[in-house]
Amino acid sequence: MKIENVLNYVANNSAYYQILFDSNNIDISKIKTIEDLHQIPFTTKDDLARFNEMFLCVPKSKIIDYVTTSGTLSNPVSFYLTDNDLERLASNEEASFKLVGANSSDIFQMMVTLDKQFMAGLAYYLGIRKLKAGAVRQGPGSPANQIEAILKFNTTVLIAIPSFIVKLIEYAKTHNIDLNQTSVKIIICIGESIRGEDLNFNELGKRITSNWNVHLHSTYASTEMGAAFTECKAGKGGHLNPELLILEVVNDNCEIVKEGELGEVVVTTLGVEGMPLIRYRTGDLCNVYYSECSCGLTSPRLGPVIGRNQQLIKYKGTTIYPPSIFEVLTQSNIDLFQVNVYKNELGLDEVSIKLPSTIDDEKLIKSLKSALKAKLRVTPKLEFIDKKELIGLVFNPEKRKPIKIVFH
Ligand SMILES: [Zn+2]
Repeated sequence: MKIENVLNYVANNSAYYQILFDSNNIDISKIKTIEDLHQIPFTTKDDLARFNEMFLCVPKSKIIDYVTTSGTLSNPVSFYLTDNDLERLASNEEASFKLVGANSSDIFQMMVTLDKQFMAGLAYYLGIRKLKAGAVRQGPGSPANQIEAILKFNTTVLIAIPSFIVKLIEYAKTHNIDLNQTSVKIIICIGESIRGEDLNFNELGKRITSNWNVHLHSTYASTEMGAAFTECKAGKGGHLNPELLILEVVNDNCEIVKEGELGEVVVTTLGVEGMPLIRYRTGDLCNVYYSECSCGLTSPRLGPVIGRNQQLIKYKGTTIYPPSIFEVLTQSNIDLFQVNVYKNELGLDEVSIKLPSTIDDEKLIKSLKSALKAKLRVTPKLEFIDKKELIGLVFNPEKRKPIKIVFH
């Protein structure tokens, strides 16, 4: 029923899908199950960027909010949301908050931005409101002000990028503030993985939980899906919200992968009015779990994003997922770096890690090199540059996230 509804809707309203169905002779009345969906070609990020407005299903007068995706690799893509789409975002976040055990008596401190055409911040805010909980819209950065707000308003839930929580912990330590004495009990993490492929906490997750007795929850979401995969208390992957998305996780041959296997996340959005997507390839590679969760939910779960399909590095005969490089650097207590991938004269990938010249210390370099070798089986080039220059490269004020990797 849900599949038929969304297919009928795009066939009637989206210029892009009308052409796609026509040119591929697709009879949508014959598509009733997830298996049947295979007849429809994937929609890619590139399609979305190139035919952006052809995906729009409503007149512009119905648009309430204009969003732009950050575009890690491709050009930024515009996304248009109607009033109903904002309501859908609110329901999504409300469901996520309930999954982490929050309720109307909680006070949420938002350590992410609400502006800059950013969808997630707005979605969180709408969800907090729908839950009838309290919101402290602190925004990103400034550990001192964050802690002041936590103490003043008795915040119970934080929404933050996990590496910022590490900064917050360091700040608290140097100022003799005991975070365990604060009212915070839950942290909802956005943008970075806190777990490894084995679903145990990675270095980032460990650094937080070893210092702060809180429940850490990972979320995985994107503007295009307009929904989040959120971890329940079991912490065994983020749960699909089956009301809002159809999930397919596919291998290189476009076949659905089995329990626990790695594949690319493909979603079909349900209930989206402005720009619904059918079989959208996110480019994100995750392990999928279909088995019942110990929390009792039977919805499929996704492990952390292991890599992006377009971001695989083929280096000296080995495939490297960028997050594994980040993990080694974090484990070596290096927080400031930028990985650069470029093609050499033979057309092969070369990897170079830019590091601040302040850490140009022989012992550390030696141990970093052996850690990289142990984890990746190859050693990328290390390049030491002026710290200020590196900060300028990593923290571009035009970008919402630190630029940890650049593909040239
Ligand atoms: Zn669960």
